[in-house]
Amino acid sequence: MADAGAGPTFPLGSWPTPLEEAPRLAAAIGLAPGDLWIKRDDLSGLGGGGNKVRKLEWTIGDAIAQGADTVVTTGAPQSNHARLTAAAAARAGLDAVLVLAGRPERAGSGNLALAGLFGARVVWAGDVTHEDLAEAAREVAGDLRAAGAVPALIPFGGSSVLSARGYVECGRELLRQAPDLHDVVVAVGSGGTMAGLVAALGAERVLGVDCGALDDPAPVVAALAAPVGPVAVEAGRLRIRREQVGAGYGELTEPVARALDIAGHTEGIPLDPIYTGRALAGLIAAVADGSVAPGRKTIFLHSGGLPGLFGHPGAVAHAEAGLHAMPPRS
Ligand SMILES: *Cc1c(COP(=O)(O)O)cnc(C)c1O
Repeated sequence: MADAGAGPTFPLGSWPTPLEEAPRLAAAIGLAPGDLWIKRDDLSGLGGGGNKVRKLEWTIGDAIAQGADTVVTTGAPQSNHARLTAAAAARAGLDAVLVLAGRPERAGSGNLALAGLFGARVVWAGDVTHEDLAEAAREVAGDLRAAGAVPALIPFGGSSVLSARGYVECGRELLRQAPDLHDVVVAVGSGGTMAGLVAALGAERVLGVDCGALDDPAPVVAALAAPVGPVAVEAGRLRIRREQVGAGYGELTEPVARALDIAGHTEGIPLDPIYTGRALAGLIAAVADGSVAPGRKTIFLHSGGLPGLFGHPGAVAHAEAGLHAMPPRS
């Protein structure tokens, strides 16, 4: 994955990830059967998979180049990024410390259970703002340094100008797999994934679906995309849908619950309630309002997140309600 002159990467994933046709899902959402393809970045290999693996190849490579022995990062309690940072650190022989918003809770569920298996240590930061969470991580890094460790900080969601290169590479991979792609639909959290795709494919071909992790994602995505792309990206030219956030990041909305059912029932592919479910709900809305049209190749980027489903009580209850019991045999 190395990009000449951009510094060392540390190999973590299995590339290229598959691009699979999804004809039954296409038909269910109003596209023609050959229109819709799923980029399986949920199958990126490490630690349960997901989009953070491509970004971590850059940030872990950078941490190793700096001589770090420990990585420190932040996230929500069910952060996929924190889980995959723990896995990446294990693979690279580094310690991982996860500074998570909230209080100790349900450590046996979803992403937290996996982070435990990967040997991460957790610091609970309480109810904090974004800024306070970043400050808490800097303080943890300071304590580690005072104790003789060499910590490297990995930013929120793993998104930085450096790590967005992982999704520039994904954009190039997509152009090799589907040279005629018209739209790539992607969930937006901390912004690095969309930013890299925009840098590789141009703003017109990338449709972001905001998941509510940032107050205003467009300027963040533009800033992360600008230094890696061929030309500066204006925030106003980005295509970002914001109607899927609902009452907030953690909420399972009705359109998202429907999207989880549609993907599961038509293709046997699980989506998660926070990111990929919102991305598909956003695609369904985009087909309904004509901003994504039949007859053109649309790529749905599956960015992973399945462990988060098992850490989300509302999504688990929704899944349970969908289990149709057979009548008992007489
Ligand atoms: C983090 C995440 C995203 C969003 O990626 P960003 O680069 O943070 O915008 C999308 N999907 C899943 C499953 C994620 O974990």
